[in-house]
Amino acid sequence: MTSILVTGGAGFVGSHLCDRLIERGDEVLCLDNFFTGRKVNVEHLIGHPRFELIRHDIVHPVFLEVDQIYNMACPASPEAYQFNPIKTIKTSTVGMVNILGLAKRCRARVLQASTSEVYGDPTVHPQTEDYWGHVNPIGPRSCYDEGKRVAESLCINYHLAHAVEIRIVRIFNTYGPRMDPGDGRVISNFIMQALRGEPLTIYGDGSQTRSFCFVDDLVEGLIRLMNQDEETGPVNIGNPIENSMIQLAESVLAETGSKSTLTHVELPADDPKQRCPDISKAKQFLDWSPQVDLKTGLAKTVEYYRNFIAQSDK
Ligand code: NAD
Ligand code: UDP
Repeated sequence: MTSILVTGGAGFVGSHLCDRLIERGDEVLCLDNFFTGRKVNVEHLIGHPRFELIRHDIVHPVFLEVDQIYNMACPASPEAYQFNPIKTIKTSTVGMVNILGLAKRCRARVLQASTSEVYGDPTVHPQTEDYWGHVNPIGPRSCYDEGKRVAESLCINYHLAHAVEIRIVRIFNTYGPRMDPGDGRVISNFIMQALRGEPLTIYGDGSQTRSFCFVDDLVEGLIRLMNQDEETGPVNIGNPIENSMIQLAESVLAETGSKSTLTHVELPADDPKQRCPDISKAKQFLDWSPQVDLKTGLAKTVEYYRNFIAQSDK
């Protein structure tokens, strides 16, 4: 049996990953400081003989015995990672050193959840893994972007200096059930606003684009990357179908049947104008491509938020 540590395991992506690993028959140690994660995301796993929930912050050293580590710990929504920017940087740097130190001692393989944000506001489109990025090092997103860039550098240097086995995934915008309804990300905002009959808040003119990957597709990509021996990464995992925020708002209105209007508010500083992954590497090395289209994924996500609202109104 493989013993697997999932840091950030009570978060949105981490909790889906824990589910899949348990289904596969692995032993899962889910570690979280519950900053943006929620116990309810893994509540159904508590009591499972192969599942353990640990409250811990990766900024402090971790002593466990494991075979693989998925390092998902780090707040992902701009509102959350900007709440305490210094803590965000510490999580991706000091926390990464602790995780790599653990991996070195246990001879475990580490998969680092990096991000499309390492490309910043990209000047190359779509983004390939060999593009070095266009990040403002002192901007409001830098605590996240630069932290993740240092984390990648730490991974590659632990690999070169200490032969730690690493896998780096650059995750593009991902959505699905269990995304925190209040986390300020666009899909959670739009769906919650639509379901409550409130105006959908378009930041700027809404022409900026993102490509949205359903969480089940992402988790499949993470597991494939971890369990192959050819490629350390970085590998982009995302859905290459690009949508403007106006198009996304229209899709959410269609899916919810909501009569909400659209309202324009100020565009946040350094908001990337375009983002779309080149997934040739994921196709070549992982035989991976997304299977869930936006309409299907939105339907599942809307259902989750409808239930969430029904529960909170009780
Ligand atoms: P999330 O905020 O739902 O999950 C992050 C989890 O990490 C939370 O459970 C949080 O409590 C935990 N955490 C944060 N700091 C920690 C610390 N110091 N010690 C222990 N636990 C800590 O976000 P998510 O969307 O599930 O993202 C998971 C990972 O994937 C993150 O590393 C994020 O940067 C990366 N990622 C996500 C997306 C996306 O669109 N969801 C895109 C790119 C990258
Ligand atoms: N956005 C928006 N309305 C919202 C929240 C976000 O128009 O209520 C925009 C935001 O400006 C960005 C895009 O949606 O251009 C994606 O934002 P999100 O925070 O989900 O992810 P990220 O900017 O990190 O890609």
